[in-house]
Amino acid sequence: MNDFRRDPAEVLAELRTLREGDAPTHGGRVLSYVYDSGVAELDELAASAARLVQPVNGLDPTTFTSVAAMEAGVVGFARRVFHGEAPTDVADAGSDATVVGTVTSGGTESCLLAVKTARDAWRSVRVGTPRVPRIVAPITVHAAFHKAAEYFGLVLDLVPVDPATGTLAASDLVDRLGDDVALVVVSAPSYPFAGLDPIADVADACRQRGIAVHVDACIGGFALAFWPEALPAWDLAVPGVTSLSADLHKYGYAPKGVSVLLTRGRDRQRHQYFRTTGWPGYPVVNPTMTGSKPAGPLAAAWAITEVLGEDGFATLSAKAARATEVLRETVDGIEGLRVVGMPTGPLFAVATDDSVGPERRVDPHHWADAARGAGWFLQLQPGLVQADGTRLPHTTHLTVTPVTEDVASELAEALVAAADAVRGVPRVDGELVLAGLADVLPGGIEPLLAASGSIDSDTAAGLLGAIGLLGGEGGALPAQMAPVLALVEALPSELTGRLLVELLARVVEPRS
Ligand SMILES: *Cc1c(COP(=O)(O)O)cnc(C)c1O
Repeated sequence: MNDFRRDPAEVLAELRTLREGDAPTHGGRVLSYVYDSGVAELDELAASAARLVQPVNGLDPTTFTSVAAMEAGVVGFARRVFHGEAPTDVADAGSDATVVGTVTSGGTESCLLAVKTARDAWRSVRVGTPRVPRIVAPITVHAAFHKAAEYFGLVLDLVPVDPATGTLAASDLVDRLGDDVALVVVSAPSYPFAGLDPIADVADACRQRGIAVHVDACIGGFALAFWPEALPAWDLAVPGVTSLSADLHKYGYAPKGVSVLLTRGRDRQRHQYFRTTGWPGYPVVNPTMTGSKPAGPLAAAWAITEVLGEDGFATLSAKAARATEVLRETVDGIEGLRVVGMPTGPLFAVATDDSVGPERRVDPHHWADAARGAGWFLQLQPGLVQADGTRLPHTTHLTVTPVTEDVASELAEALVAAADAVRGVPRVDGELVLAGLADVLPGGIEPLLAASGSIDSDTAAGLLGAIGLLGGEGGALPAQMAPVLALVEALPSELTGRLLVELLARVVEPRS
């Protein structure tokens, strides 16, 4: 062709330049979002596999039969490692105990589909029931379930956890069960504090009441299945667990866009499907939310599971486990910080140790900002008041991957140095940041607080500019995130939400 507007090589060169602005995806410097196996060959394998199926439409596995073969392979692997191969209790489970599954575009889609399936299974035996079904879960459950409740019209009933440790008491959740509960969700482990929920106790109580239980193993699944330490049963081996999600684009080391949802019972799983023959086009039968979809992420995940096998996964899990141990011991040894609760798997959260005097305390957000100054990206998590009035502390989150082991001593040194740099610096007072804003905003902050989430786009953008979050280069965040997080906590959540929507929307607006 000779009517190209630009030279493809030049466009790719531009993309390479843009990529240089990204946070580093390899090498263990970003402790969230990316999951680096540290094995370059696996990345190459994933790229080659994805390239082979690039033109394929995953929508129709009867037309593109490679999709059916690869999906069966991935679901089969997941079913084996998560102990879903044989019914746990044949007599009790009846004829519908077979575990089946679907490959989805990611953790959120797996969680959304688990909720949609549970809602429709719940409805199917309650014809004419006008009640809105409930999801019950600890407050540490992933935000994907907030999204599912909102999208699919369920009430999300969040159970408070112990504010000191972030752990759920099974009885607190069981007390809230009732006939209107379509699904209980527990995590293996949770994202914020990496707590492994009391899955066996919760599932047992739910089984007695005929309530479905989803185990969200999106982050931990493919690491915990091969974890070098013994763990309480948490997967499909637990009677009463009706579905489980695990992300292949996390500890499955595949590129983004692939997760698996396993469901116990073919009949239950059929509620997951959308189908219609009520239009003049082709019959639409979709197990997932999208229509046309890529086969690339599936192919990459399939190739990786085939090449690694259980032993390969175990080697990588052991690397992540050793690195996690080094880093937890490092944090345990830092005066003024503490690891939150009893984390399970390759992730944990860090809070201030309030048992030492204020001058010895380390604020986890100042700590994260100091580490970022040294080139290590930790993730800041805001504090949160629970329904019972207790406050979960603000924390800093670390997700540890196999490659982290290769840089563990360097990172440990940086974590110690960052703590030394900010020890005794009090946390940012959100109320003070608010007061400062009142001075720079023409009409003061009061009208904004009163309007809460109902402000318009330009007002929101003006406020973001005043905070220093808009107007910078590209979408880059400011170097100091602690004041931003303090503000997130101090502002009414409706207003915070509206501002964040504006920020994300403006970041991708074309520049005039
Ligand atoms: C990552 C994650 C999800 C959502 O997954 P995405 O792949 O980001 O959509 C759900 N649950 C947990 C516990 C997670 O860590």
